[in-house]
Amino acid sequence: MSSPVMQPDASSSPPRSAWLLSEPAFLILTLDESRLTPSLGYVFRRSWLYPHESLISILWKFETANALSGVVVARLMGLDVDPYEGIVPRRGVVDVVRLQESLGLPVEMLRAALMDPVGRRRYSDVFRYCRRCLAHGYHSVVHQLEKLSVCPAHRRMLETRCWRCGREAPYRVNVQLLEARFHCACCYAGHGGTWTPDNAEPMKPAYRSAFARRYLECCLG
Ligand SMILES: [Zn+2]
Ligand SMILES: [Zn+2]
Repeated sequence: MSSPVMQPDASSSPPRSAWLLSEPAFLILTLDESRLTPSLGYVFRRSWLYPHESLISILWKFETANALSGVVVARLMGLDVDPYEGIVPRRGVVDVVRLQESLGLPVEMLRAALMDPVGRRRYSDVFRYCRRCLAHGYHSVVHQLEKLSVCPAHRRMLETRCWRCGREAPYRVNVQLLEARFHCACCYAGHGGTWTPDNAEPMKPAYRSAFARRYLECCLG
C-alpha cells in the first residue's frame, strides 16, 4: 500500500491515517488490562521525541497517540505508586527498567528524561515551561533547571503559573499533570498549539544545540 503521505491532494484518507500507515519505525504494544501494562497494540515513534525531552512530555505523547487516560499511564510508574499522588520524575525514583518494557524506549533515553541533581544542577519542584515549546509539544528537563530563567530556544521567560487561572502544578508524574497534555494542569488552558502525531516535526538544529549547551553549562556551574 502506498503511503497517503506521498499523495497529499489525491488521498481520500483522513490525515491521521498517515502516521498509522507509515511503518515500520513505530513500536506496537497492547494493554494487558489485568496488569495495566502495555505489551502489544500501542503506537509510539521514537522520532516524535526531542533531545532532553522530559518524562512528562514523553508520556503526554504516548497518551495522545494512543488515546489513553492519565490513570492508565500513571500506573506505568508501578502498581505500588498511587496514581493521584504520583512520583517525582527524578533519577533513582522512577523505575526506568519497568518503563522501558512498557514504552519500548531505550533506558538511556528514559534516564535522560529524568531530573538528575548532580553537580550544580538544581531543579524546580513545580512545573516550569516555555509556552512556545508546549505549543510545539515539548517540555524539557532543561526547563526545570532553576538556574535558567528563559527558554534556551525561544528566549522567552519560563513560567510556572498558568496565564489564565494563575495556578502552578507540582512537577510530579501523577494523574493531574498527565491529564494536562501540554495544557494547564488546573484549567486546561492551551498555549496556542496542540501536539498530535500528525503535526509532529523535528526540532530545529539550532534549538537542539541551544538545549544541549544550556544543560551542560548548568551542570558545570
Ligand atoms: Zn521554548
Ligand atoms: Zn490554568
